[in-house]
Amino acid sequence: MLRRTKIVATLGPATEDPKMMDKILEAGVDVVRVNFSHGTAKEHIDRADRLRNRARAHGRQIGVLADLQGPKIRIEKFKQGKVMLEDGATFVLDTRLGSDEGTVERVGVAYKQIQADVKRGDTLLLDDGRIVLWVDEVTDSEVMCRVVLGGELSDRKGINKQGGGLSAPALTDKDREDIKTAAEMQADYVAVSFVRTAADVNEARELLRAAGGHGGIVAKIERAESLDVVEEIIEASDVIMIARGDLGVEIGDASLPPVQKRLIQLGRSMNKVVITATQMMESMITSHIPTRAEVFDVANAVLDGTDAVMLSAETASGKYPDKAIAAMDRICREAEKQRITTHSDHRINTEFGRIDEAIAMATMYTANHLGVKAIAALTESGSTALWMSRISSGIPIYALTSHVETRRKVTLYRGVYPVSFEPTTGKDHGEVNREAVDELLRRGTVRDGDLVILTKGDMMGTMGGTNAMKIVRVGEMAGD
Ligand code: PGA
Ligand code: MN
Repeated sequence: MLRRTKIVATLGPATEDPKMMDKILEAGVDVVRVNFSHGTAKEHIDRADRLRNRARAHGRQIGVLADLQGPKIRIEKFKQGKVMLEDGATFVLDTRLGSDEGTVERVGVAYKQIQADVKRGDTLLLDDGRIVLWVDEVTDSEVMCRVVLGGELSDRKGINKQGGGLSAPALTDKDREDIKTAAEMQADYVAVSFVRTAADVNEARELLRAAGGHGGIVAKIERAESLDVVEEIIEASDVIMIARGDLGVEIGDASLPPVQKRLIQLGRSMNKVVITATQMMESMITSHIPTRAEVFDVANAVLDGTDAVMLSAETASGKYPDKAIAAMDRICREAEKQRITTHSDHRINTEFGRIDEAIAMATMYTANHLGVKAIAALTESGSTALWMSRISSGIPIYALTSHVETRRKVTLYRGVYPVSFEPTTGKDHGEVNREAVDELLRRGTVRDGDLVILTKGDMMGTMGGTNAMKIVRVGEMAGD
């Protein structure tokens, strides 16, 4: 059985070695993330190129997700690289202090707005919540804090405010430059960090299109206040990422599980794709096996219905990138067996807005109730396959398309597999159907006697033109 849930792995120093690139491809990575929080534009372009070349050698189609840094607010550096903060001590965030002048008493902050965004009584969380500060007093250049939970604090650690409310706009000047790089590297997806509103998502898309990029936009849900307008954000996006790292710091870790379940459900019901991210296999940064809790976390995300599960430091800088992917692979497959369903009430009471959408829904209803072996969607943009994959099913959906961008885009959709397809017989429908089924036969995914549903448009080559579904029995095909 093919794995339906997709695996996103972050590239980094640990995947530089060509041998490791081969290993992560063999282990089953579907989409790679290049993280613009680290490294240079040239490095990212180079990494994506090398990975795509290796993928070609493996006969695989891999999506590339360019993840913008966004306005992550950080402390500057310490004279000694790190300090030890004692509980109860005072500690000052000082916007005027030199960038490497930090001491155990104060440290610089490049984000000059911080005094405007915090007030006495607020709680600030540093280093993903490992250090907790209580804001005592705010002056025009300093935030004076009391250390509630101390510990070691090192250079350039992140700052979050409990409950949200650091108001830096989502797209920084660096992000605007990086969007051009993402366009240049033909990223299939561009992720916007710390999205606040739908307008942030729309702006990123406009900038990407202006730079000539075709990628879909991923909204990273990682600010407390984004949850208040999450439906508008989802509507504006192609994909949402449940960015549990920063989100958990802002809303509290205990709030994450119900939020994850709600966002996956909401995203799918709005015909969008969902990535579940961060600390899924955290212990595998240094261990070659996951903890039981991590096994359950990945499996539960699959059962929640996520499209993809993501690895961050586990593959970017961990010791066992390929093993982390292999562990996710086996956990996903096993969890999927628990969820094979032939019934779905997805959108059972809603009207369909488009003909191609109606065909996609009719196909899934039929496929689930008739027991077909595979669905072959002859598609230009991939949207028919996307609609189909929003319905729970154990039946593989092959997206047959001549467009490489579409093949790469569907690598993220649960249960959808890209197939390069260029009919050689022109536009005769009977012949095209036969060629499509032959392609599945060649891949060994269907056999004589199996039922297959084909969807396509009368006017092949037209976006959004799907207007037909046809049920064929492999080996018994006649005409169109
Ligand atoms: P990051 O985003 O890895 O870019 O911080 C994901 C998260 O915050 O969970
Ligand atoms: Mn984040």
